[in-house]
Amino acid sequence: MGFCLPVCKVFRRGKYLFLFLISLSVLAWIANLSGETMKEAPVSFATPQALVKGESLREKLNALTATPDRLITPAAKEQCPEESPLLRKGAVKLSFESSLKLKDVESDNKAVIEGEFEPSDCTARQSVAILIPHRGREKHLLYLLHHLHPFLQRQQLHYAIYIIQQAGDATFNRAKLLNVGYLEALKDYSWDCFIFHDVDLVPENDHNLYFCDKQPKHLVVGRNATGYKLRYKGYFGGVTAMNRDQFFQVNGFSNNYWGWGGEDDDLRVRVELQKMKIVRPPADIARYTMVFHKRDSGNQINKDRMRLLGRTPLVWRKDGLNSCSYKTMSLERLPLYVNVTVDIGKPLS
Ligand code: UDP
Ligand code: MN
Repeated sequence: MGFCLPVCKVFRRGKYLFLFLISLSVLAWIANLSGETMKEAPVSFATPQALVKGESLREKLNALTATPDRLITPAAKEQCPEESPLLRKGAVKLSFESSLKLKDVESDNKAVIEGEFEPSDCTARQSVAILIPHRGREKHLLYLLHHLHPFLQRQQLHYAIYIIQQAGDATFNRAKLLNVGYLEALKDYSWDCFIFHDVDLVPENDHNLYFCDKQPKHLVVGRNATGYKLRYKGYFGGVTAMNRDQFFQVNGFSNNYWGWGGEDDDLRVRVELQKMKIVRPPADIARYTMVFHKRDSGNQINKDRMRLLGRTPLVWRKDGLNSCSYKTMSLERLPLYVNVTVDIGKPLS
């Protein structure tokens, strides 16, 4: 026991060598395995989990439809021209046929996927979220979708339409719904530009561009109902365009305007407090047809609006995007728009 013959020593060393070689080959095998997995990783097996903020529509389409051999390769596209060649000159002929059906609008807009569109032959200059506050104006919504989708496509935009529906029958709050729209749309994609759009205003001229500028933009200089004149100096309602940072900088809309009026003036005050300057396209272009309607029940004149407006400079930092509390009841991705139904509560008193 206390000694070993030279043969025995050689055998013992050989055993260690054998064990060493075995471990080496196990290690090599593991390394080889992980090497293969690494090689596989870049192949894009897109999954629905890949639908995260910042993806282009094309990538999303890949994610939804792809098996490796069906991947749509994103060809290098040039930026779309500064002025789209698809814009029509002069007034666009609008139609408000009572027989129009959602199915018709869907089949006219096959390139729109879940409310979103991207030009196929060039890279859009801006990605724009259209936010529409809504409750009980289905016919207006249908007319707007019918005109707006082709209009936005002729402008060669990457865009999506979001309808923000107020759930329940508490007093309507347009501004709060638009705050919700901004917050919810940003969960989908880092939109560059936001258009806050009444459901009953249909643009008449393709050159009224739904792009954001260096300053907040007001797009409704005139509408048929008011003789195509600005309603009053400083009017900033109906349809407005602000980019992501501008809207964030003013802390969005106030959440406290329940009922009709004042919320758009409040936004103007916020913009002015930030030393921004509202810009408008020429009057012969920024023209809209408003579908005729009466004041909705549930949206009575807000008698408190002047008092609230006086307090805006004091409260804007605390009342807005950063204090917008709501409960999303449902979010449906319908063919022509994203439908967000939301409980925004009710006025305090
Ligand atoms: N709105 C709505 N349902 C209502 C009240 C208002 O959908 O019950 C939305 C709709 O987008 C509408 C906007 O809020 O266009 C502004 O309201 P309204 O049209 O009454 O304002 P005005 O015509 O005076 O600008
Ligand atoms: Mn209206």
